[in-house]
Parts: sequence; C-alpha cells; structure tokens
Amino acid sequence: MITVVGGGFAGVEAAWAIASRGERVRLFEMRPLKETGAHKTSLLAELVCSNSFKSRLATSPAGQLKAEMIGLGSIVLPTGERHSVPGGEALCVDRDAFATDITATIEGHPLIEVVREEFTPEMAQGLLAAGECLVIATGPLTSRPLGEWLAELTGRKHLYFYDAVSPTVDASTIDRNIVFAQSRYDKGGDDYLNCPFEKDSYLAFVHELVHAERALPHGVAAEEETLEKIKYFAGCTPIEAIAEGGERSLAFGNFKPVGLTDPRTGRRPYAVLQLRPENKEKTLYSLVACQNRLKWGEQKRVFHMVPGLENAEFVRFGVIHRNTYIDSPKVLTPWMEMRDAPGLFIAGQITGVEGYVESAAMGIYAGIAALRRLRGQQQVAPPRPCAYGSLVSHLQDDTPREFAPMNINWGLFPDPETAIRDKQVKREWKLSQARDAFDDWKDSLA
Ligand SMILES: Cc1cc2nc3c(=O)[nH]c(=O)nc-3n(C[C@H](O)[C@H](O)[C@H](O)COP(=O)(O)OP(=O)(O)OC[C@H]3O[C@@H](n4cnc5c(N)ncnc54)[C@H](O)[C@@H]3O)c2cc1C
Repeated sequence: MITVVGGGFAGVEAAWAIASRGERVRLFEMRPLKETGAHKTSLLAELVCSNSFKSRLATSPAGQLKAEMIGLGSIVLPTGERHSVPGGEALCVDRDAFATDITATIEGHPLIEVVREEFTPEMAQGLLAAGECLVIATGPLTSRPLGEWLAELTGRKHLYFYDAVSPTVDASTIDRNIVFAQSRYDKGGDDYLNCPFEKDSYLAFVHELVHAERALPHGVAAEEETLEKIKYFAGCTPIEAIAEGGERSLAFGNFKPVGLTDPRTGRRPYAVLQLRPENKEKTLYSLVACQNRLKWGEQKRVFHMVPGLENAEFVRFGVIHRNTYIDSPKVLTPWMEMRDAPGLFIAGQITGVEGYVESAAMGIYAGIAALRRLRGQQQVAPPRPCAYGSLVSHLQDDTPREFAPMNINWGLFPDPETAIRDKQVKREWKLSQARDAFDDWKDSLA
C-alpha cells in the first residue's frame, strides 16, 4: 500500500501509475471539506484556470513530454483527448466533463481508495515512522499545516510559499552582437550577460513598462494581500511598481550600470538589464530583478524593447503569486525522494515544475519511483536527453540562482556538443535524441 496526498494532476497520475501496476493506493484529497481558494469543485484533477494541455504538435517540447507520458501510462492525457474541445494547435478540454471522468475512473479503480480528509503532518510522521511509502502531491496551494511541516523538514529556507520570478529567455535567441558578457568591475567571471540601454531606449522602455496592461489577479483582495506579504518577506517589488517611482528609478536600482563598460562603445551604458544563467549548460537566462505582474503578451512586447532581446524567445514569463514549492536541487534525489526522509516522495508542481501537464508528468514518475522502492527495485532516473530527463535536470541543477518553477521548453533539452546554427535543425536533433533516450529508459523501467 502506498499513500498519495492530493487529488490534483500529480496525485491522480501517481495513484493511477501505482494501481495500474498492481499495488494498492490510498489517495487523500481535502476538498470539499477544506478549500484551497482557487478550486471550485470537489472533483479530482480540477483545472483551476485555463483549459489547455498545451500543444498537440508532436514536434513541440510539450508534445514530446506528452508522448513520454503516454508511454508510461498516463490517465490525464487520454481522458483529456476524450473530452477535447476545439483549441487550434492546443489540446483543450471540457473541464467539467474531464474532471468528472477522471474522478469516476479513479474512484472506481478496485485498488484505489479515495479518502476525503485533510492530510496532516502527524499522519505523515506516522506513516514514515512505520516505514511506509508516501507521495506528497499537494500542489501550489498546499494546506498550511502540511506546508509548514515540509518547510521544517527541508530546513525552512528550502521551501517557498510565493513565486516572485523574472522572465526567462532561450539563450540562443539573445542578440550577442549587442549583449555582452561581463561582471561588474570585471570581478567574478563572465557569467552575467548585459543588455545596454542608451538614454532614449531606456526612457522608451520605462514608458511602456509603466503603461503596460497588468494581469488581472485571481481574486483581487487575496492577490493584493499576497503581494504585500511578498514585499514584506522578500523585499520583492514588481519592476513596474519600481518604475512608477520615477523615470530614473530603475537606472539607479535594478538596472544600475556601475562597473560595466560596453565593448562596442567603450563607455558605461545609461542603464543595464543583466541576464543570469538559469542552468549549468547556459541554454537559459533569466532577466535579473524583472519580477512583474504584466500580462504575458505585454511582457513579450515590453521586454522585446530591451537592446539585444528584440527577438528573444520567452520560455517563462514573470509572475508574483502564491505558490508552494521546494528547493528541489537541494533536497530531492533524481527520483523525487527526499534525501533526508527516505520513503517520502514529492510530486507535481510542488517539486518546481509548472503547469497541468508537467505536474501530471511528475506525478507518474514519482508514483513509479515510490512503487519501485516498495518493491525493492533499483531506481532508474530518466536519461538527460528525453523530456523527463530535461525536467529532472531542472530539478537537480544546483547552479547558484533563485530556484523557480519551470515549464517544459526547448532550453531544457540538452544542446549538441557541436553547435548547430539552424534553429529548426537543432530542434529536430534534440527531438530525435529525446525519443531514442526515452525508449531505452522505458524498457529499463519494465
Ligand atoms: C490560480 C492558479 C491558476 C493557474 N493557472 C494555470 C493555467 O492556466 N495553466 C496551467 O497549466 N497551470 C495553471 N496553474 C498551475 C496548475 O494549477 C498546476 O500546475 C497544477 O494544478 C499542479 O498540479 P498538482 O497536482 O501539483 O497540484 P493541484 O492540481 O493543485 O492538486 C493538489 C491537490 O492537493 C489538495 N491538497 C492540498 N493540501 C492537502 C492536504 N493537506 N491534504 C489533502 N489534500 C490536499 C488540493 O485540494 C488539490 O486538489 C495555476 C495555478 C493556480 C494556483
């Protein structure tokens, strides 16, 4: 018997992965007895916002991840296909029909018992003390007591209650003729890239930033309260709010150019937006101190005004909202087990992936890993080139950075050793590597 906590995307996939391989599961879901603030029903796998499971294209990063999930026996994806509605290139679903079907299938499985109860730290401690396997999949809105327990378990500083992150771009789409690598006063290597503003380009950027359309918060009061807490706890103010403080406030703050010389002009730029590597391979860069609450389309438009980012591809936009997730590179093994609490597996968005599909994917994986532990089988982490390997690599990458949740994207797939300049050819290469690697891994899991 394995206990799975949380009947969201990761939880139902973990329970399904375990039960369909012949083992009993007890699945705890606290709704409707206790609400999360975002879910509206008592159904399992409820979509809290959009109804999209991302691209159907087999040649997209999400398409490859979904192919791998199907290969491992996903329940979410075939159910989504059964209840799909027109969505262009994306797999969009009828949310009620989808979640009703998932709920009935999970509740009807002879090896799954669904318990409608809030799972508490005491329950977790009891199960782990008894040597049982536990999968925590309680998502971005994990109940407070369990979140606090995870914070204690991970050494407190390794659990985040809020997501306040800057946009991230694909490194290969940064214009290196403009952007230069340099650290302030040439101290500390060339890890940082610098986007140099002249006065005119800076003022134009600030004008658009201040006037850009902001995201409509999910429940204004709750979000405003969240924002106040973030400011209070993390000293983290949205960049558009800083810019509102005066037209030069960014040039004196987040974008200060001191200690930097643009090699093209031999001068210090008027202001500099710095980019920091997001992974060891430096295929992804985040925009330093650009956390914001603009609409995604607006972020794209405004940050494309930054010199050197005119054609940048965003793999993630900035957000500031409530989100519980652990600092996985510090506390998790490659098979999603807590290093300091054997038998405790973590699944879904709380590991530091983001989105319905990615969370479901990591639910399948954590479920399989928990089952392998129960059965005394050796763990086999996914190979680096496949989509699973790319997500796990993100969760294991201990590059100094503010660890932040990530969707599947091209930048997570490893680059070839010999550079391929053509973007399309490079992506085809990444996909073929991913497919081969996944097939081998799947065979080794059998
Ligand atoms: C407001 C909001 C909007 C979002 N919009 C989108 C979007 O448009 N597209 C997208 O792809 N992703 C979106 N996300 C992210 C998406 O919700 C998650 O990626 C996905 O649902 C995570 O799956 P999960 O299984 O990890 O968590 P969830 O799906 O949230 O499931 C966790 C479950 O655990 C339960 N739970 C929590 N604590 C306990 C406890 N102690 N005991 C028992 N049960 C518990 C919860 O009730 C919940 O059912 C959004 C998230 C939020 C909060």
